[in-house]
Amino acid sequence: MSIKVIVAGFKGKMGSTAVDMVKGDSELELAALLDPFAQEKEVDGVPVFTSKEDLVGFDADVWVDFTMPKVAYENTHFALENGFAPVVGTTGFTEEQIAELIALSKEKGLGGLIAPNFAIGAILLMEFAAKASKYFPDLEIIELHHDKKKDAPSGTAVKTAELIREARDYKKQGAEDEEETLAGARGAEFDGFRIHSVRLPGLVAHQEVIFGAQGEGLTLRHDSYDRISFMSGVNLGIKEVVKRDQLVYGLEHLL
Ligand code: NAP
Repeated sequence: MSIKVIVAGFKGKMGSTAVDMVKGDSELELAALLDPFAQEKEVDGVPVFTSKEDLVGFDADVWVDFTMPKVAYENTHFALENGFAPVVGTTGFTEEQIAELIALSKEKGLGGLIAPNFAIGAILLMEFAAKASKYFPDLEIIELHHDKKKDAPSGTAVKTAELIREARDYKKQGAEDEEETLAGARGAEFDGFRIHSVRLPGLVAHQEVIFGAQGEGLTLRHDSYDRISFMSGVNLGIKEVVKRDQLVYGLEHLL
């Protein structure tokens, strides 16, 4: 039996790529599409909804979400409340919101995934960066994205920073008497290190973690050149969440 999938944000760059991926997999069935501004009532026989409330009682298994940071928490909450296992790529969740959604998923006995990055190379970069930070505690994260991205820093940078915080002993980097003569010049502070966000047309999703030590340096870099790079992760997420009974944060928990 195929897994019935709702795609929220189906007109967006990621949502439309996810729609093509779902259509191309015979184990998945595109059940419904959601976009608050959609004019059409259906696309190739698939119903289009403009309000999530109209999906209460709808027959589907998984809610794929590539929308906007300001609605993603509400959408994920709604999906769990209504029996749809969420697979969420939208970024911008707070740690508290994630903890709350994990608790709700346990209460409902529903699987789910919030993944700041679905690209396997990015998952590896995060893992390698956390490992390297034990030996190279001086580091900076630079994330680079297209200039239409709404949140900063990226969810991937935040997740990388959290993994580094778990692996590395706290260290306040930089000079004791460092002064910013232009606000923001040193980027955002996280656990004693800095995160920088670059936004430029032409970019997709890229991240570097730069480590520095006495007489040596190490740079880890991942590049998503095309949104197709995220789709094997989304596909895996859909197929895994239906077998599970609680939401996880990070694709690495399903690998
Ligand atoms: P995008 O092209 O702007 O797409 C977002 C879409 O969501 C738009 O079509 C938007 O419609 C629609 N939308 C807005 N509010 C909605 C709602 N309440 N319900 C349903 N749809 C709604 O952005 P994108 O590049 O696809 O990125 C979407 C999200 O995915 C961002 O948070 C981005 O950071 C994240 N992302 C994650 C990964 C990952 O691997 N996890 C990778 C890339 C991007 P309007 O344009 O009409 O407002």
